Amino acid sequence: MMTFSFSDEYKKLLQVTIDNLPFAARILKAETGEIVMINKLGTELLGNPFVKTDVFPQTIILLRNDGTIYPQNELPAFLALKTNAKVIKDDIYINKADNSKNLYQVTAVPIKNSQNQAEFIFEIFEDIKHIKEVDRTKTDFISLASHQLRTPLSALRWFSEMLLAGDAGELNKEQKDFVQNISDSTNRMIELVNSLLNVSRVESGRLIIDPKPTNLRDLIGNIIAEQKIKAGEKKIELVFSIDQTLPEINIDPKLIGEVYTNLLSNAVKYTQEGGSVKIIVSEDQKNIISQISDTGIGIPQENQAKIFQKFFRGDNAIKLAPDGNGLGLHLTKAIVESSGGEIWFNSVSGKGTSFYFSLPKEGSQSRAGDVTLN
Ligand code: ADP
Repeated sequence: MMTFSFSDEYKKLLQVTIDNLPFAARILKAETGEIVMINKLGTELLGNPFVKTDVFPQTIILLRNDGTIYPQNELPAFLALKTNAKVIKDDIYINKADNSKNLYQVTAVPIKNSQNQAEFIFEIFEDIKHIKEVDRTKTDFISLASHQLRTPLSALRWFSEMLLAGDAGELNKEQKDFVQNISDSTNRMIELVNSLLNVSRVESGRLIIDPKPTNLRDLIGNIIAEQKIKAGEKKIELVFSIDQTLPEINIDPKLIGEVYTNLLSNAVKYTQEGGSVKIIVSEDQKNIISQISDTGIGIPQENQAKIFQKFFRGDNAIKLAPDGNGLGLHLTKAIVESSGGEIWFNSVSGKGTSFYFSLPKEGSQSRAGDVTLN
């Protein structure tokens, strides 16, 4: 039954290895999709393909949240084969014997031969229902706490501004410095709270996405204008290049504006005096691609994997710009992905960084949702 091209010894070793994994795992033949090996947890979850009984179905059906069948050509194993690379999906449901639905993260990895062709697909199913619930509780907590903090922070800002304006009498130099300090710190805290709220809004999946035909040239032009002062102070040259004939694109201008603002303000912030920042918008067959490049401090190799994580800040970045909360890129990535695009970057430490993101020419899908960004 098994047409495995590994030796018997290797097969045994592989079976023991996958049996010891703490989640369901199986190996499929790339050519036919036939299951050639499965571990015990896999058999429990997905049925034993080698024993024909009425109890276990031969193939288990993978579902979407709404209960419809997950399209074959979007399944991780299919995509891993197509792209010849690891694919992870965390939105796959499986009906259990008692008819309850459980959420799984499915990872598919191609096992390649010496010609770099996938011979097998290794697939694992991790039960993430609990993790998602904890995530949701954390997001709800952050959202609640941030909301509660906004009112007292606004009061602090308001009263420190009144003091600075002399509403309670003229302040001497030292008093002014102290109050200015309170005011600056309050503003930073408000920014942090707003970023936290925005992150929890995007993560909740309740964010309104309202695409409209948008002229990118105008949208980016306005954002560049907002960054001109900061760039001017640092004598940073801003260059903008966009194809005049680029058609309008159906995106949510507020959300995508936030993406350009974050990437452009980072580029200016992390570039030393006299450097340059470029925004180049181009297109390929399916996407509009925006590139934001700078000649700044760069992202050290050892930080590159963590750059989109919440609260991550590189040491070199902290040194150059102590203020910052490490939430901007996390938010930016979430917005780009919920708009149907992808984001990536390349960077050389000490030389500069280029961020790229794509937006599908066909535009973003609208989402009813019930919250907007701050
Ligand atoms: P923040 O700018 O508040 O630190 P971000 O989430 O926007 O937060 O960025 C996270 C980190 O990514 C930064 O602290 C910095 O280490 C790195 N980074 C982002 N953009 C750039 C850039 N253009 N050049 C160098 N490092 C960058």
